[in-house]
Amino acid sequence: MSSSDAPDPTAPTLAQVVAALDGLYPPSTAEGWDAVGLVAGDPAAPVRKVLFAVDPVSAVVDQALGWGADLLVTHHPLFLRGVSSVAATTFKGSVVHRLLTGGCALHVAHTNADAAPRGVADALADLVGITDRRPLELSAAGAPGTDDAARGIGRVGRLAEPTTLAGFARRVAAVLPATAQGIRFSGDPDAVVTTAAVLGGSGDGYFDAVRAADADVYVTSDLRHHPASELRERAEFEARAAGTPGPAGTPFLVDTAHYASEWPWLRYAVEDLAAALAADGLAVEARVSELVTDPWTGQVPSR
Ligand SMILES: [Zn+2]
Repeated sequence: MSSSDAPDPTAPTLAQVVAALDGLYPPSTAEGWDAVGLVAGDPAAPVRKVLFAVDPVSAVVDQALGWGADLLVTHHPLFLRGVSSVAATTFKGSVVHRLLTGGCALHVAHTNADAAPRGVADALADLVGITDRRPLELSAAGAPGTDDAARGIGRVGRLAEPTTLAGFARRVAAVLPATAQGIRFSGDPDAVVTTAAVLGGSGDGYFDAVRAADADVYVTSDLRHHPASELRERAEFEARAAGTPGPAGTPFLVDTAHYASEWPWLRYAVEDLAAALAADGLAVEARVSELVTDPWTGQVPSR
């Protein structure tokens, strides 16, 4: 038996890694419709390498197996609804089959990771430069023994320095991973913004919370025509009715690729898992997948 085959006293079991992840992102704080936690894997198996990614897609599985990962942690669930087969005859079954055959477990931290301190929303807020911030909407379900005032959907606060909407959009483009979509915005490019709200992933269901928080600009993803158009029309109408000086009402909108607004969290997850395990004298090698899993792969400017 070579030394590399010897049991590693600092290597945790999968159950210990899951416990550390659940401490960071309590499953009780996930939305009711969500499906978070361990998807595949033996809790007694040792874990030495952990790969973090946004999506449990085939290319990420290739990367995890190629690197020799014992655990893949993704933000998005592989399964949100019940299935009757995980045979390798479907694309999702193939993901499960290949991971298990390759000795790699799968764990999901989704809306529980959105809501957590240093979760998806905090990581995005840090990158775009929001200070003095709070959740846009507090988590409905609390996490025992934790600061629930810092846990919830999205974040809103003050920008370190007032900037123009166009300048702010450029900052968002500079700090997020590159995607085919780039960054779109809605509003007067020269209008000055001093407060901002962010929500990683699909965020057009939270316009009322953004309006209530009085944010000048809202950064989120997957914005659709009708919700975006109606939000902007209402803002401009109400600004005119109130006689507010300036060219346009707020909130303005900044739209990113869904993958891009969630990916920044992965770095925090790597750091925080390492710290949580170290507190118990345990260690893993953890890394962030740099694969762009945005489904949109190309874009041409319109005429
Ligand atoms: Zn998402």
